[in-house]
Amino acid sequence: MFKISQLVADNKNMAKSILIVDDNPNMSSLLSEMLEIFNYESVRAGDGIEALSKLEKNNFSMVITDMRMPNMTGLELLEKVKEKYPKIPVVLISGYSVENGGTNGNKIKPDGFLAKPFMMSDIEQLLNSLL
Ligand SMILES: [Mg+2]
Repeated sequence: MFKISQLVADNKNMAKSILIVDDNPNMSSLLSEMLEIFNYESVRAGDGIEALSKLEKNNFSMVITDMRMPNMTGLELLEKVKEKYPKIPVVLISGYSVENGGTNGNKIKPDGFLAKPFMMSDIEQLLNSLL
């Protein structure tokens, strides 16, 4: 079942704004600067709770979230975002190998992964494939 509000929100997503969720402010500001090079603006949240509250108030075209954070893991956030906003792509940031790991046993799959350290080419590829 889709909601009209979600449909309207999707159509209003012209701003190309990306929600970055990371408990490490250096990491999120680095990512934010890299996204800016590709003309994407971003909003930062320090954990999943803050991220969900920002999602309620703003339209985002994508969520990029760290895996390990206080209060809520990236996987828990992924599930909640997909439940409420199924059309918003969610990308998981991970510092370790994610070939199979990371999401094993999870029913909901992320739309992509971003491995640390971030490379401009990885970010470009993500943006091109998901947005
Ligand atoms: Mg972290």
